[in-house]
Amino acid sequence: MSTSIIKTLIFDKQVRLYLTNNTGLLNEIIPIHQEANHVIKATLANSLSVVSLLSATLKEKQRLSTTLLMSQPKNKMHIDVDAQGNLRGYANDHLLAQEPTSVKQLIGQKGSIRMIKSSNMNQFTGITDMPYQDIDKDFSHYFQQSEQTDTLFKTNIDWTKKNTIANSYGLYAQLLPQASKELLMYVGEAFDVLTSVLSKLSNMTETELAATLRKYFGEFSIIGYDEVQFFCDCSKEMFFGLLHAMNKGEIENQIQSGQPMPASCNICGKTYLFTTEELRTYLQEDGNG
Ligand SMILES: [Zn+2]
Repeated sequence: MSTSIIKTLIFDKQVRLYLTNNTGLLNEIIPIHQEANHVIKATLANSLSVVSLLSATLKEKQRLSTTLLMSQPKNKMHIDVDAQGNLRGYANDHLLAQEPTSVKQLIGQKGSIRMIKSSNMNQFTGITDMPYQDIDKDFSHYFQQSEQTDTLFKTNIDWTKKNTIANSYGLYAQLLPQASKELLMYVGEAFDVLTSVLSKLSNMTETELAATLRKYFGEFSIIGYDEVQFFCDCSKEMFFGLLHAMNKGEIENQIQSGQPMPASCNICGKTYLFTTEELRTYLQEDGNG
């Protein structure tokens, strides 16, 4: 299921404003991490929402790899997206073993955001700290610091009692050169009144959207739509690497048992099965190589 990002210019082309309601998209990704602590899930969902909006800022072959490095350096969260809107994200095993009680505690005093923007030709790495211990504010801070552009992220996720996502939406706003900084503040303040629009964005017609946006942001124009979808590029071949990490005895035991060995992708939840025949071949090749 893909989700749309509506790209607009507001305040007479002084601010770039992108809007999305990504409830369906997040409900595809978050249940894969059902076992995770709720704070971890909420932080992952929030980060996915922010990074999904960023996909609309990428061009052609660009890809953005984001890592949240928590205060405890072994705890990491990865979210990747490319210009085609292929999005994926997960918390590493070390983080999944934690039981944080709040986002602030999870990020801690020394958390940081690292972003690698790459294309075929070049690569740019930026890293900033997370002074707010708050996903929206710290991502906004990242762009302020690392790219010297006034940027604002505002997202909201409503959870059901069963810990699934009832509604998730957000906006990305960026000041264009020479625009007054106050305009961005104004967008931030308008977020609360925009809730009624953002929560049902996918069911709104362009005319309805235009009527509301014009009310708050003056002259505006829709400049395009981008799609974002969950995508994992894992393959069975990639999991042969896991076999390297096992000792020969373990693999032999598996062969003896006569049962195929499962290996699961922690990004998309897909399980690959290695037949005893494949394991036997692997051991032979490993022995020869
Ligand atoms: Zn996968």
